Amino acid sequence: MTKLRPGVIFGEEYKTLIQAAREGQYALPAVNVVGTNSINAVLEAAAANKSDVIVQLSNGGAQFYAGAGMPDSFQARVLGAVSAAQHVHLLAKHYGVCVVLHTDHANRKLVPWLEALISHGEDYFRANGRPLFTSHMLDLSEETLEHNLSESERLLKRMAPLQMSLEIELGCTGGEEDGVGSDEDIGADNPKLYTQPEDVLEAYDRLNPLGHFSVAASFGNVHGVYKPGNVKLRPEILRESQKLVRETHNLGENPLPLVFHGGSGSEKEKIAESLGYGVFKMNIDTDTQFAFSEKAGAYVFETPNAFKHQIDPETGTPYKKVYDPRKLLREGEQGIITRLTEAFDDLRSAGKSLAQ
Ligand SMILES: [Zn+2]
Repeated sequence: MTKLRPGVIFGEEYKTLIQAAREGQYALPAVNVVGTNSINAVLEAAAANKSDVIVQLSNGGAQFYAGAGMPDSFQARVLGAVSAAQHVHLLAKHYGVCVVLHTDHANRKLVPWLEALISHGEDYFRANGRPLFTSHMLDLSEETLEHNLSESERLLKRMAPLQMSLEIELGCTGGEEDGVGSDEDIGADNPKLYTQPEDVLEAYDRLNPLGHFSVAASFGNVHGVYKPGNVKLRPEILRESQKLVRETHNLGENPLPLVFHGGSGSEKEKIAESLGYGVFKMNIDTDTQFAFSEKAGAYVFETPNAFKHQIDPETGTPYKKVYDPRKLLREGEQGIITRLTEAFDDLRSAGKSLAQ
């Protein structure tokens, strides 16, 4: 097995990682982060499980990283993502695993955000000889296929010289993620929630000559966690898309790198099945959000007086050691680490880091 240097990887290294996942039939969790606490928890969890990992920022997560009060919210979305990427570049290698840096959904109104990040990426590439992000996602799944693919072509042409990869979306992931999508989409009989293999083939024909790309294909997956029964996962849709591309172009097994959005709350056997159809990345956000808040919340409920008084009015006990924000944040970090340990196990990536 090829070994890679630890830290943020890109270009050929990223392709090596995807190939190893395809051959080993495992996937990496792509975890949405909002600050240093969540980033460090993801890196710690990956190191503890000897798995490589994907760190990703939504536009809202990036804005929060720069500061929710920053006056210019567009600038905050751009600079927050740049700042988070620099944090990961500096620290990731010291955790001894390979890290993919990625940005999440950019719909039509967020194309300027993506273009600003690519401009920062071009500056970073000139200065450092490597891209700032491994990959970006462009999500024009709500537009026509023609608009989706022509914009994908345009951006991939800019990103390929930086050795970056593009993730596109075909068919709609249900639910809502940071202002993209809508809860009204959810419903097992909604045809929009299921990607057409012909669309995947057209994307392959148009994008493969330009650079490296991956496809978020919809097979009934949704963002968020909903009541059981509202969602019907049909991983066989992924199999059919792979088959059409493979047979049309006479390629090997699972030629396309596929991405599973809305991994939170998904049935374990459907996750396992999707791994056999070339899924190398599964997004997880809602479940790690809950894991952080559940643990931090439990910590507060344990000693509620410490969050109302510096010194207990009845017993005189000083609470400095309890309300120190590091205690609360560390509890949340440990919640994320515990949940990701489960994800590395579900995705069969534990113990498989390619880092030397
Ligand atoms: Zn998503």
